[in-house]
Amino acid sequence: MYQQTVSIRDLPADGRHPEVDGPEHFPGLERMALRARPKLRARDLIVQKYGGSSVADAAAIKRVARRIAETRQAGHPLVVVVSAMGDTTDELLDLAVSLSPRPPAGELDTLLTTGERISVTLLAIALSDLGVPSRTFSGKRAGLITDGIHGKAHIVNVDPRHIRACLKREEVAIVAGFQGKGLKKKEVTTLGRGGSDITAVALAAALGAGICEIYTDVDGVYTADPRVVPRARKIDVISNEEMLELAASGSKVVHARCLEYAGRFGVPIHVRSSFNRGIGTLILPSRDQDPEWDHKPVRDRAPAVEQPVVSAVLCDKSVAKLTLIGVADGVGKSAEIFGLLADERARVEMAVQNTSSARAGGSDISLAVPGADGFRVRAALSAAQGAIGFMDLQYDGQIGRLSLIGLGMRTDAQVFSRLFTALSDAGAGTELISTSDMRIDVAVRAAVLEDAQRAVRSAFGLDHAGLDRAGLDRAGLDRAGLDRGGEEATKAP
Ligand code: ADP
Ligand code: ASP
Ligand code: MG
Repeated sequence: MYQQTVSIRDLPADGRHPEVDGPEHFPGLERMALRARPKLRARDLIVQKYGGSSVADAAAIKRVARRIAETRQAGHPLVVVVSAMGDTTDELLDLAVSLSPRPPAGELDTLLTTGERISVTLLAIALSDLGVPSRTFSGKRAGLITDGIHGKAHIVNVDPRHIRACLKREEVAIVAGFQGKGLKKKEVTTLGRGGSDITAVALAAALGAGICEIYTDVDGVYTADPRVVPRARKIDVISNEEMLELAASGSKVVHARCLEYAGRFGVPIHVRSSFNRGIGTLILPSRDQDPEWDHKPVRDRAPAVEQPVVSAVLCDKSVAKLTLIGVADGVGKSAEIFGLLADERARVEMAVQNTSSARAGGSDISLAVPGADGFRVRAALSAAQGAIGFMDLQYDGQIGRLSLIGLGMRTDAQVFSRLFTALSDAGAGTELISTSDMRIDVAVRAAVLEDAQRAVRSAFGLDHAGLDRAGLDRAGLDRAGLDRGGEEATKAP
């Protein structure tokens, strides 16, 4: 029986459900996670997204087809979004680049979308073998309208009328992920790498799905990439905002744009493995977006924002730091600089402005951008030196970023003191610092990043059990606040 569906509906007081495959699946955390979405009813629409590894070969596609058949049998109308098989997108890209170092963007998009088109048809064939009626959709037919920018299109509208008709006929709608139709020229456009997550959430929002399930090759979201940090801990329930912070810090399991979309439209997400039946990670929108939300643990964390809860330490080895020395005084200089960065579509990860020692009345502005954007941004800034009016541009591509993620990060100086003591013990000097309630980012030299991460994880008790009471005790953080928030969020009720 399909676990989540059955369990959430009419969950008994003790958190167990007789139809679920055995009580061993319901230690406290899962019980708490299952209570998170009591509004999911038997007939609610579910959107399922299967990533490349989940449809990598015939056996995997059959496994996916069986899961779809079970979900449908449990009574759910179903929209399924699929990615290209395995590494198909990378292979197509390599092929194109081997023919021309700069393939025309339109042709490239047309080429890349074929990967997803293959997956949808193969899945439809596998479903027909199980007697499950389905219909396949390209992004365009599914009604995904984009801004038309090749390679990184944004969704501007969703018109899922054909999908609705398909659901009405009680067929499974199988949608090719990561693509849509440009608003003006109607051309095929892709949403950027990993964009199938966005397709799924966009459809879930447009169709009012009860939940959007993202199936992948790990059991859920971990405090760090479990393939890199073997002791990383699986997170059972996390708020959309916190997840966004994790994604922004390099956690690639769910696309950050998909999370932004889900947050905006109040779509709950369940990240789980397509290789087993386990319950994964629930990513819940904030209560503001859904006033009727009845999810105790996350709600109870809201007041705890005043108290620090440290949940993860993440790293990004590839950051570039640019410093504009002696920016001339004048209103609008920052607007010019950041406008230029926006034109380059570069993500500004940190920015600091100081009084310049090189130019009286001027300022020095330091920026951190993803390493991949570094040279491009440097070239663009250099070209604009005269127009902006700065004396020199320094560039450092050997920077790494360490991010401390949690809640209420700014409210307790103890967090800062512990963080910077650990960094100093690891010999990591800080180049830039930025803070928000949910994270503290520090730029350090890439060479010391790993040592710094180990030291900081250890300082906050995250090096083994993650966010548990013992770990927090070791971290010496405020128990009163944690008892209200952190403990609830990570321990069985
Ligand atoms: P899919 O092909 O299903 O879209 P992705 O490769 O996009 O899969 O995402 C799954 C991968 O994300 C995992 O194999 C894992 O290595 C990686 N990953 C990175 N950070 C995390 C994290 N914090 N939690 C879980 N997985 C992570
Ligand atoms: N196939 C595309 C990629 O590999 C989109 C996706 O998988 O989400 O980026
Ligand atoms: Mg992905």
